[in-house]
Amino acid sequence: MKYQSTRGQVRHIPFKQAVMMGLAEDGGLLLPETIPQLTPGDLDALAKLAYPELAFQVMSYFIEDIPSADLKNMIDRSYASFTHRDITPVVHQDGLFILELFHGPTLAFKDVALQFLGNLFEYLLIESGEHMNILGATSGDTGSAAIYGVRGKKNINIFILHPHKKVSPVQELQMTTVTDANVFNLAIKGTFDDGQKIVKETFGDLDFKRQHALGAVNSINWARVLAQIVYYFYAWGQVRKQTGANKVYFSVPTGNFGDIFAGYIARRMGLPIEKLVLATNANNILSRFVNAGDYSIDEVHPTFSPSMDIQNASNLERYLFYLFNEDSARLAAAMQQFAATGQLTFTDSQIAEIGEIFLASAVDNDQTLATIREFHTATGYVLDPHTATGVKAGKDLAGGECPIICLATAHPAKFPDAVNQAIGKDPERPASLDGLEEREKRCEIIEANAEKIKAYLAENAL
Ligand SMILES: *Cc1c(COP(=O)(O)O)cnc(C)c1O
Repeated sequence: MKYQSTRGQVRHIPFKQAVMMGLAEDGGLLLPETIPQLTPGDLDALAKLAYPELAFQVMSYFIEDIPSADLKNMIDRSYASFTHRDITPVVHQDGLFILELFHGPTLAFKDVALQFLGNLFEYLLIESGEHMNILGATSGDTGSAAIYGVRGKKNINIFILHPHKKVSPVQELQMTTVTDANVFNLAIKGTFDDGQKIVKETFGDLDFKRQHALGAVNSINWARVLAQIVYYFYAWGQVRKQTGANKVYFSVPTGNFGDIFAGYIARRMGLPIEKLVLATNANNILSRFVNAGDYSIDEVHPTFSPSMDIQNASNLERYLFYLFNEDSARLAAAMQQFAATGQLTFTDSQIAEIGEIFLASAVDNDQTLATIREFHTATGYVLDPHTATGVKAGKDLAGGECPIICLATAHPAKFPDAVNQAIGKDPERPASLDGLEEREKRCEIIEANAEKIKAYLAENAL
């Protein structure tokens, strides 16, 4: 399997190079040149596998330049850090299936991909004798998942910028209590946007980037999408076992379109997904895209589901490439237009084509809390606010003819304030958070200034 850029200037590169490149050098996103087509017999065989074996089989369709034993070993180590023996268990509640993706070390679904990506980076860097300095900005979840993905790894340092005192207390502690020598937490005196701007500017300084071998862990890396495809197959197999149903709906709380795009690929591979339900919060650019063909940037509205407070969904470009029939020139022109105007519009026939695959709904703060409350009353099960948007959209949009699987993207204990507002008590805290407040911390408070941060990087980079 070889990889190509959506914008057409990077072609025919192997998996390993695609992982190290992250963003394609022509500014596009990397995709496999072809999508493997599975038969019903292949699906039956996959449905019998435990999660790590399934991950190995699914990833092997897309990776041909890593020896099987090494890939297997990396996958096993990645999912050994999960606290549930099924890795991503499926539970049945209130007529829905909940796919719990939050049993990794930082209690959000991003662990599923970043535990694997950390091991993959380390493996590739040891092989090449190179090193990497990861730089990223976070509003909460990505930072801790990335830090846990690479803590203590050889040949990698990681620098994560978070806005000082503007992430939730649990999120802050999950980052700052990691004291491995290769982890650098920088609390910037500014906002998440300031952090992102500094990161962008630093990556834009190509000499600096090359000199310090800067690497990224954001959701544009193909290996992250790949790791997420696996649990769509897993959940489908579990639900088919329980219900006998072959076709299912998935409902996905969406921000950057990364997680739901993995579902789209699974569907293209032949997994019988009737429709993918796309749930947004009040930041509804993607639900407007699906329902009205209107992809236009608005202000970012802060909500109870902060990891979905996103306007520019970086992974949408991958889907648009397919919507434009893999015409990279047309895609590149559209992305240029979007960069210039902040807007793309789609024709009625395109809206119909999108609607063949996706249904979408925006769920506001009040509806999010009401969903957490009603679900808790009916079942005793506590949803996190991100998951609640998906549950609400799934219930509203999916027809009753086949099972609905809602992706639970975070553990409710990560967002105790919103949960408490909804049900009048704090969610139960899992053991991994025990004593979090008392642990040793390591964090540098620093001005939100690109030059200061570059100087810090230069001093501490590998
Ligand atoms: C990142 C995140 C999302 C959004 O995922 P995308 O891949 O950006 O669409 C949803 N929920 C939680 C808890 C997250 O951390």
